[in-house]
Amino acid sequence: MALDIRTGQGFDIHRFADAPEEGRVLVLGGVAFPGERTLVGHSDADVIAHAAADALLGAAGLGDIGQHYPDTDPAWKGADSLVILADAAAKVRALGWRIGNIDCSVVCESPRIAPHRDEMADRLTASVGAPVTVKGRRAEGLGAIGRGEGIMCLASAIISKES
Ligand code: MG
Repeated sequence: MALDIRTGQGFDIHRFADAPEEGRVLVLGGVAFPGERTLVGHSDADVIAHAAADALLGAAGLGDIGQHYPDTDPAWKGADSLVILADAAAKVRALGWRIGNIDCSVVCESPRIAPHRDEMADRLTASVGAPVTVKGRRAEGLGAIGRGEGIMCLASAIISKES
């Protein structure tokens, strides 16, 4: 028996809405930020959950998040992305993979991530059923993210299986 170990990389980016949208709130890592500018998206636009799901799917060779949860599918309109993330984890486990961990780097000028990092990690971890960590970074004023036009997130996942 050998241990098959795979890694996956995930990425997501959403732009801020030009104007507040009725009934919509900024959600990052499953944590709501009332009063902050909201992100444009088909689901709740949670870039951290999306990048984490993308990393998991990639690790298992299951493609990307857009293939499984297309933004043309009414089923995912306004969806809680923690549900999408949990579903991606289930898809990976259904192939016999054990999920090691996921580490996420979210890049934005606002809101401040650090005060909410532990709560995000707890919610994402509960969704995946394996440790998920979150780190917040600023883009130092560079590019679209640095100008505060949106939020992006990178994630990496590791999975393993006896083969
Ligand atoms: Mg997304």
